[in-house]
Amino acid sequence: MDKQQYAQQLQLLTKAPVLVDAPMSSYTTWKIGGPADLLLQPADTDELAAIMAYLHEHDLPWIAIGNGSNLLVGDKGIRGAVIRTANCLTGTRWLGDTVTAGAGVLLPRLAIEAAERSLGGLAFAGGIPGSIGGAVRMNAGAYGYNIGPLVTAIEVVEYNGHKRTIGAEELTFAYRNSNLFDVPAIVANVTLQLPACPREESLAQIRHYNQQRCLKQPLEFPSCGSVFRNPEGDHAGRLVEVTGLRGLRVGNAQVSVKHGNFIVNLGGATAADVRGVIEEVQQRVFANTGFKLEPEVKMIGEF
Ligand SMILES: Cc1cc2nc3c(=O)[nH]c(=O)nc-3n(C[C@H](O)[C@H](O)[C@H](O)COP(=O)(O)OP(=O)(O)OC[C@H]3O[C@@H](n4cnc5c(N)ncnc54)[C@H](O)[C@@H]3O)c2cc1C
Repeated sequence: MDKQQYAQQLQLLTKAPVLVDAPMSSYTTWKIGGPADLLLQPADTDELAAIMAYLHEHDLPWIAIGNGSNLLVGDKGIRGAVIRTANCLTGTRWLGDTVTAGAGVLLPRLAIEAAERSLGGLAFAGGIPGSIGGAVRMNAGAYGYNIGPLVTAIEVVEYNGHKRTIGAEELTFAYRNSNLFDVPAIVANVTLQLPACPREESLAQIRHYNQQRCLKQPLEFPSCGSVFRNPEGDHAGRLVEVTGLRGLRVGNAQVSVKHGNFIVNLGGATAADVRGVIEEVQQRVFANTGFKLEPEVKMIGEF
């Protein structure tokens, strides 16, 4: 079967159009990436389960993405199916101090909804443009806080379409990492327990952190946030800056002049341009400081 035929069959399992050769530049915050053979956006967990069972049965490779805010997709695109949760699995169910959110709910929305219910704990995430599913898998964090400690349970759909709930006791979180990377499954729902916090205080914290981001980050350009992991005891951005690499450019990708750990798309940058900047930065930072910078951003697809 070719991809058009797979798309026709998959279309029977989901309401949203199954896209063929979907340009991943439209689904990543860097606005970079070649075509995905198939792109699916399940409306609910049942659709997701049916899609996963089909992909398993037909031995088709797949990858889950959320809002594509921590992804570098290769210029040749992605073979197989991309399952996107942002924009589709977007329900929230609030009960007291807990919320169960669809994997595709974006963090800024969740932080505001929490604040409106006089709950806190998510202000740090109010300016992170990721989905809660992606954030939990990455253990997203900022300003000394991480999402991991707030998680009480996760519902996943496994590679074969089976649904499973994973309790907090089975989850481990580390710096921008979790054991969910070891599980061949897609996060469908996330349950968080949040501390009480007066509404105004919670909203003020969100505003405060977002102002910090506006001051320090080049939010006017497409990016993926911080490109490199901070090495033990230092900051990747500082190492890039002391090496004199602000403004370093390959094609249309550039180390931000505002923040050393951001690589911005000046317009029409390719994944090859970004990889070029990443490699040049790694070599020159190592030569200058002895630190080996490792990318935090996930590279997927064919380059
Ligand atoms: C301007 C800007 C600022 C940022 N600031 C921060 C910050 O302060 N702190 C921080 O930690 N990050 C930050 N980021 C990076 C990014 O927003 C986070 O890593 C975010 O958690 C990624 O979520 P996502 O939905 O975009 O995931 P994606 O980028 O789509 O995916 C990231 C990884 O998670 C996997 N994944 C996504 N969804 C699922 C799912 N439902 N089930 C299983 N796996 C899944 C993907 O396969 C991939 O491996 C920033 C990014 C930008 C553009």
